[in-house]
Amino acid sequence: MPKDIKVLVCGAVGKMGQAVVRAVDAEAGFKVVAAVDRSGNLNIGKDIGLLCHINEIGVRLSGDLKETISKSNPDVMVDFTMPEIVIVNAQTALKAGVRVVIGTTGMTKDDINELSKFSKQNAIGAIIAPNFSIGAVLMMKFAKESSKYFAYGEIIELHHDKKLDAPSGTALKTAELMSQARKEFGRDSIRGKENLKGVRGGIADGNLHIHSVRLPGLIAHQETILAGIGQTLTIRHDTYDRTAFMPGVLIAIKKVVELDHLVYGLENII
Ligand code: NAP
Repeated sequence: MPKDIKVLVCGAVGKMGQAVVRAVDAEAGFKVVAAVDRSGNLNIGKDIGLLCHINEIGVRLSGDLKETISKSNPDVMVDFTMPEIVIVNAQTALKAGVRVVIGTTGMTKDDINELSKFSKQNAIGAIIAPNFSIGAVLMMKFAKESSKYFAYGEIIELHHDKKLDAPSGTALKTAELMSQARKEFGRDSIRGKENLKGVRGGIADGNLHIHSVRLPGLIAHQETILAGIGQTLTIRHDTYDRTAFMPGVLIAIKKVVELDHLVYGLENII
């Protein structure tokens, strides 16, 4: 019988981390062997199963990633933490020979390149995906495909008000993919005056304007509007529950143990 894939969840008591603990625990062939969160977290030492509203699973929340890796010997670390610390977590895991699946968004291109280099040099698998939901991956794919036919486009991304980075990693990735299909999208036909600073959004790859909305009650949503003469095409994806990301996370955990390099984007492993 094949052995279970041993998973360490970093950011385990965050919104996504808890969903990952529940998904991994429920899936045959996977096992939660460790859970880490910020060292000051008041729940350190408590059973992660109970903290995630499932059964006691005999794994206690830790505040020390390095020590937890050496004690639990995981195959894969899944990270859903914060943009400022994910790079340090990933380096700690990779240096200890643990593959990484990263969902945390807001990493810089330099950070990604550095991890990619380390992963290749040491032949150790890593997956970074700004969006683990299959629907969002398809939305990006359709947006790229449509970009061949429409000369104008803008992206509106909408997220919950606790999101730390803007624009979303998905919006940036969408712009990157769209600009692979069309180098430069149309500019405003007249150079209108911005009476409110930033009102036309931020400008990403290919002159694509991105608008970020932050409101309580939202989870993760995006609308890509493409325009041609006399018509628009709107491609919209909505996430209503964080479980939407879990099939993608489980696919990535399974895939990363076979990899010897870094893969960026769920679309490259499904
Ligand atoms: P969250 O609820 O704030 O969870 C982040 C968790 O990480 C918190 O428990 C936080 O603790 C903890 N943390 C902070 N510093 C840490 C450290 N040094 N070591 C370990 N844990 C630490 O945020 P979330 O909504 O779960 O989102 C997490 C990340 O995933 C964000 O970057 C978000 O954009 C991204 N995300 C990605 C996808 C995807 O499909 N790729 C989907 C949704 C979200 P404190 O609360 O004490 O700070």
